[in-house]
Parts: sequence; structure tokens; C-alpha cells
Amino acid sequence: MSKQALSPSEVTELVAGLNKLARNLWWTWDQEAQELFAELSPRGWQNLYHNAVAILHEVSDYELRVRLQEPDFADHVRHVLQDFRSYMADQKTWGRLNAAALQKNPVAYFSAEFGFHETLPIAAGGLGILAGDHAKSASDLDLGFVGISLFYREGYFQQAVDANNWQTEYYTQLNPRNLPLEPVLGPQGEPLVGSVEIGMTEVFFQAWRVNVGRVPVYLLDANRPENEQLFRDLTLRVYGGDSTTRIMQEILLGMGGVRLLRALGLEPSTFHMNEGHAAFLTFELIREKMAGGQKFTEALATTKAECVFTTHTPVEAGHDRFSPELMNYALQRFHTHARVTFAELLPLGRVNPANARESFCMTVLALKASRSANAVSELHGQVSREMWHCLYPDVPVNQVPIGHVTNGVHMLGWMKGTVRRYWRRKLSGNGKAPAPVGGEETRFWLAQPDKDWASEINSPAFWKKVEDTNFISDEELWALRYRLRRELLEFSRRRLLLQHQRLTQGDFIAFDHLLNPDALTIGFARRFATYKRAPLIFQQLENIVKLARDKQRPVQFIFAGKAHPRDDEGKRFIQHIIHLSKFSDLLGHLVFIENYDVHVARQMVSGCDVWLNNPRRPLEASGTSGMKAGPHGCLNLSILDGWWREGYDGTNGFAIGDDSHPLSVEEQDRLDGANLYRALTEQVIPCFFERDANGVPRAWLKKVRRAMSTLVPQYNTWRMVQEYTTKYYLTK
Ligand SMILES: *Cc1c(COP(=O)(O)O)cnc(C)c1O
Repeated sequence: MSKQALSPSEVTELVAGLNKLARNLWWTWDQEAQELFAELSPRGWQNLYHNAVAILHEVSDYELRVRLQEPDFADHVRHVLQDFRSYMADQKTWGRLNAAALQKNPVAYFSAEFGFHETLPIAAGGLGILAGDHAKSASDLDLGFVGISLFYREGYFQQAVDANNWQTEYYTQLNPRNLPLEPVLGPQGEPLVGSVEIGMTEVFFQAWRVNVGRVPVYLLDANRPENEQLFRDLTLRVYGGDSTTRIMQEILLGMGGVRLLRALGLEPSTFHMNEGHAAFLTFELIREKMAGGQKFTEALATTKAECVFTTHTPVEAGHDRFSPELMNYALQRFHTHARVTFAELLPLGRVNPANARESFCMTVLALKASRSANAVSELHGQVSREMWHCLYPDVPVNQVPIGHVTNGVHMLGWMKGTVRRYWRRKLSGNGKAPAPVGGEETRFWLAQPDKDWASEINSPAFWKKVEDTNFISDEELWALRYRLRRELLEFSRRRLLLQHQRLTQGDFIAFDHLLNPDALTIGFARRFATYKRAPLIFQQLENIVKLARDKQRPVQFIFAGKAHPRDDEGKRFIQHIIHLSKFSDLLGHLVFIENYDVHVARQMVSGCDVWLNNPRRPLEASGTSGMKAGPHGCLNLSILDGWWREGYDGTNGFAIGDDSHPLSVEEQDRLDGANLYRALTEQVIPCFFERDANGVPRAWLKKVRRAMSTLVPQYNTWRMVQEYTTKYYLTK
């Protein structure tokens, strides 16, 4: 490659390319692209929390132009931009081959939250993370796809724990200028503005476009000067406020979303409601059809033919219900405008259409107004069919029309950098390529062909090879595990030092000695919803203390997670765990990392040896965090609920209890606590500490290999989005 000075026009082209790259989330699942931004400003990369757009603001245009005269850096930029361009331009894709019709009439996927990356915190938990991963895989597969959500300008809350170990929430304003967002503009270059009717008011909104590789996701934003403050704040926070705010947010999402799509000239073939929050989109579709001359029943039938619905939880509070009064208030102007009566609309959200006192349930609406519905694991399918049998009294339970597509994760996006580099080297050179050192790393990347890496990483054939000790030796695999555990420990120590400094001045704890690199490291991190029972393992505190303090076979625990701001029970769980971490004999063997988000999640699922999940079965519809463990060689230890009931095969991790659960909650908590302790002491700990003469835990690593080969190619969104496409998007 040329080492001569770049011409001004070449420099301008690269600068423009970088600016475009930073505004496409593709870089968040491309290793080299991330290294590029980190190289531009290593400290900015850390302090700005991996925000590529903010880094480009931080580095002046002049500095960037000068830096590009560094030949290696310019090569790196050119190479990444080339990869990006070929990703975007590729025509030989799964989507074009198998779902060509969606190119013209895409799938419109509506979700109240999307979790893409730590710099855009507009997800509250697993539902949003799943939506983000769905969009990323839709891009990888090149599906005709467009996402719709809301732009919450204060996002989801940041968590800080106070001196009483009580969770406090604080919010920071997201600045669109510093985020990978582009304003959606009208024909004259001004922001495109739409409106919806809420109560008696016309509420205006604008929209932001997030580029997720090849697919756009549009975020609606009510913060418009035309609106009164009350309505400007409608999109302040994820699920903010009471049920009035909630219904207003949902009207904006559902109806506003359809109106935005029309303003963009889009004619989706399928509207996919990711959870009931978006179900008001069906009202807007009905209105459109009635405006076109159809009668209500006909409009409902044609709407139904266009919609599919995914239900995500059997937990009652997860199903929005609005009182008849609230419905009357919120939809008064809409229904006059739409010329549709409440007598027609409201029964769509009731189990018993004739009961005028019944609250309006968004899940019921979604089920009644879609052509097909699905749950997110096999067991959740059964549970959902029982739960909604009331809507289909004429058929037996097993014929209630709710199927299932088990969730997945976007593997490439979840892999820690260390691991991505590792697997890529394995993929491209049978692992024989010399290990790169330091600054050589980048050059190693540049030398590798980038062919089909994304599809390879999801292929069963590749992961099958991992079972072969000639492909990867136990020693090498164990070394990788040690490296990842070390990285997590150091991350935890850094975080805990910061947490500690905030609370106390001068009270010094040796954070560099906190946690033990040789200990069996067990992770637990997710929303602190009470059914997930975060403190279950501490039921037998004395026994757990003994396990943790065993000098020969030490065990340690890393916890993280946010409780909903109004969930005091969940906050008590956090308080209890932090208290144990500071004031019990678990000190030094148990830590709680604040402010769980996708970055913390990635550190934890990669560095832990065991990923613990102990929900109250069958309330964990699927769960996805355990799927992120696979490619890192972390093993699941979980109740047979959600995805793990399907994923566990006796050789690829550990089960707590069996494929059943008692009826009483007290009995269940007691049994699960005992079974968890038993699995830990009888299986997990002995297996992990059984070392051969080389100090390698052969049996453990065999399980790690089995987990990689059986779970990774199955529980990913590459498979999941294909399944949605063939089972739901393409079938009318
Ligand atoms: C993966 C993930 C979740 C979902 O975790 P579950 O165990 O499925 O509840 C929630 N939050 C974050 C930040 C995640 O990365």
C-alpha cells in the first residue's frame, strides 16, 4: 500500500467515511472498527464510554486530518471502511435469496425499547436487548426490515447505591448530537413532523434514525416546541410515570409509528409487535382502512392479516391494562377522527367483549388483532396457551394459536474483544497463525480475509470443531478462560474502587486484592425483578460462606442488576446482597457491580466460569443472558426454565432441579434453594477443581466444549430471525 502523503481529497474522503461509520452501529460488532476509534483517542474511548460519535467530536477535524498522514493508521481506516462498504453492498445475502419480497415491503418491527450499545441506554432489560439483537441480525441477514421505537431523552436510569446500600436513580440527558442518531428530515430539509391524537390534544413528534448496519430503526420523539411541556416529556424516560403516561407513550409508539412509516413512503408487509406495548398500531391500521372505505369488521380482518405478535412474559404486571375511563379519555379525539365507536374498539382489549367494566389489556388486543402469535420458548409457549385459553374457549388448550420461537442473541455483538479476536484467528488459520502482540494486533487483522466471518461464527460446523482437542487443546482453552477471568477481576476492582471512593473518603480497602483469580467465579446479573430471586443462593448463608472461604476450592460471586425505580422489594434484594458483600464473612468473595448495562454484561458473561440463573419457574419466559456465556466458555447453572430447559442436554452445563415445579411458591423457593446448593457442591465445584497433573480441569473443559458446540449455533438471533422470517413473516 502507498506510503506517500495522502492528497487532501483522499483525506477528505476518509474523514467523511469515518463520520459515516461512527453513525452506523455496524462498528459496535466489528472489532477492527472499534480498535480504530480506540486508537484515535484511547482515553476518550474509556472516558466517553466507547462512544464513536463523541470521540469524533473530541478529536478536531484538523487533528484527524493530520493523523491520517500516519500510513498505518490510514491503512487501518481504509481497510475498515472497505469492510463496511462491502458489508453494506453485499447482494448475495440470506435475505435476498430467501425473503426477496420483504425488500420492497419490509417487516416493521415495533418495540418500546431497543438495547443496542452502552452509549444509547434506551432499554430497561432483556426485552430491549432482544429487540436490538433482532435488528442487528436482520441487518446481517439483509432482511427488509425497519424498527420503530421511542427516543427517551433521559433513557433508562443510572444506578448508584447510597451509604445505606439503597439503590438511587439518576438520569442524564442524552444529546442526539453526540449519539449515532440522524434527524429524519422532510422534503425541505427541515425535521419531519407528524402528530397523533391523545385525549383532546394533537401531539406532535419528530423522529431520529439509528442506522443498524443495513436496517434503519426510527425513534419517535415528542420533544417538539409545538407541544405543551406535559407532552414534550412524554418521551423523557423508558416506561416513565403512571398508567396515563404509559398509555400516551403507547399511543405515540403504535399510532405515531405507523404514521411515520407512511410519511416515509413505506408499505410494510408485516407489522411485528414485540410485546403488547405497540398494539395500538392496529387501531391506526384500522383507521386507515376505514378512511379508505372499509367497514369496521372488514378493516379489522385486513389489519389482522398484516400483524404478528410476540408475547414475552407470563408475569401479570408485564401485561398493560388500562381502565375504561382512561381509554375513553385517551382515545376520545382519535375515535371521532377515525369514525369508529368505542363499542367497536374497546371489546378488542377485553377477554369478555360484553363486560364494559373489564380493563383494556394490550396483550388481548395484540392477540385479537394479529394473524399469528408466538411465545419465546417452548415452555413459555405452553404457559401462554394456558394463560390465554380464555380467549379461545372453543379449542383445547394445546390448540390455542400461540406458537413459539426461542430467543437468541447476536453472537458477534456479545463477544468480548479478546474472544472475537481469538475465534477469528481460529477461523482463519486453524489457529496456527502466530499470536499477535501489542501493536501487531491490528496488522494481524489486516492480513486476514474477512470472508463470511459473521455467518461462520453462527455455523454449527465451526462450533462442532471446538469439541476436537486437536483444534484447541485443553491447555489453550484453559489459558483463554484464565485470561477472561483476569480481565473481569480487573474490571470489577476498578469499578468497586470507584463505587467505594464515592461513598467514603479515606477508608481504604485493598481493592487490588479483592477477588481471587483462581476462584470458581459465579456471576448473576439481570433486572432485579423479584421472580428472578437474586438472593436465593444466600438462603444457606453459612454453607455458602464455607464454600467461599475454602482455601483449596475457593468460590466467589459477582452480582449486578437494577431494580425498577418503584420496586422496593427488588431494592431490598440489592441492599441485602451489598450488605453481605461488606459486612459478612463473604467480604472479598462477593461483590456487587453498580449500574448494570450491556458493557457490564459483556464483562461478566465472558469472565465468569458459571452463569447463575434461578428464576421462579415458569416465569422466565426465555432469558437471554445465559446465551451470551457460550462463546466465552462460561457454563450455565440454571433452573430448567425458559431457554435452558431446551438448551441443557446433561453435558453442556448444569441444571438446578428437574423439569417440574411445585404449585406453592414457598415450597418452590425452599426446594430450589436446596437444589441449587446441591448442584453447586455435588457437581459444579468438584468438576471445576478436579485437575490433572498439568493442573487442567479436563472434565470441566469438556463441558465448556459441549456448551460451545451445542448452544452457540442454536441460541443466536441469526437462527431466530430466520425462524421468524420463514414461520411468521412470509406466511399470510
Ligand atoms: C442480556 C441482558 C439482559 C437480559 O438478561 P436475562 O438474564 O435474560 O434477564 C438484561 N439486561 C442487560 C443489560 C443484558 O445485557
